[in-house]
Amino acid sequence: MPTATTPSPVTEPDPSALVCPGEHVGPCATCQRKTHKYGRGGLPLCGWCFGRARERWGTGVRFAGTRD
Ligand SMILES: [Zn+2]
Repeated sequence: MPTATTPSPVTEPDPSALVCPGEHVGPCATCQRKTHKYGRGGLPLCGWCFGRARERWGTGVRFAGTRD
């Protein structure tokens, strides 16, 4: 298994923010770095914070705002 990569500084936008439409870019709920928002009203997490959350809470964690 690959180990976690070192997060880039929070002043650097998440890679996902660079490839999505501008209106889908918003601050990460945790570190405020620019990242890709998922849906309206959700709390976006950048890739780094999402990875940490998944480590802490297990694979059941999802992006906020996701509904089945
Ligand atoms: Zn973050």
